[in-house]
Amino acid sequence: GKLREDALTGSLNRRGLDETLAREVARAARYGSALSIGVIDIDNFKRLNDTYGHQTGDRALIHLVRIVRSLLRPTDTIGRFGGEEFVIVLPETAADAGQLALERLQRELTRQFFLANNERLLITFSGGVAQLRAGEDEQSLVARADEAMYRAKQAGKNRVLMAT
Ligand code: GH3
Ligand code: MG
Ligand code: MG
Repeated sequence: GKLREDALTGSLNRRGLDETLAREVARAARYGSALSIGVIDIDNFKRLNDTYGHQTGDRALIHLVRIVRSLLRPTDTIGRFGGEEFVIVLPETAADAGQLALERLQRELTRQFFLANNERLLITFSGGVAQLRAGEDEQSLVARADEAMYRAKQAGKNRVLMAT
């Protein structure tokens, strides 16, 4: 419902994301199935806002979420973690496959340009992927993926790194 939806992009909002993460972590723990998540953060988004305006920034977020959704499986979920940072929940997925999924997404963004006043803009993101460990809770899982995303920024952005 709308209570769990981000009004701008139609992705899950923080509340919906937290519920989905709790549910999927519990399910993976119960059945011993793989669960990976990706944390992605748009690169240089402040510059995009400053250069093209906040409304164009909003449209870039909508564009990103539409492309993510077109590539994900029906059982995968995207939620807005905050600002221009999103979490992608990938049930039945090991870390290496999760990294491939995020890299496929990066490639798709180079194909489907974002149009701002007839100008083709390349939206890139940095990402981190973490696979749930035995006994781990969702906070720890998100923290590890977020830390990997932060390392991807430091390493030069527009790349996806694996959590440690
Ligand atoms: P980095 O590559 O290191 O991630 O740099 P960045 O510029 O993307 O990150 P920074 O945290 O400096 O800036 C994030 C910007 O995102 C600032 C904020 O105004 C903008 N932002 C957050 N939410 C929204 C939104 O809903 N719409 C728009 N247009 N901008 C947003
Ligand atoms: Mg950013
Ligand atoms: Mg950010």
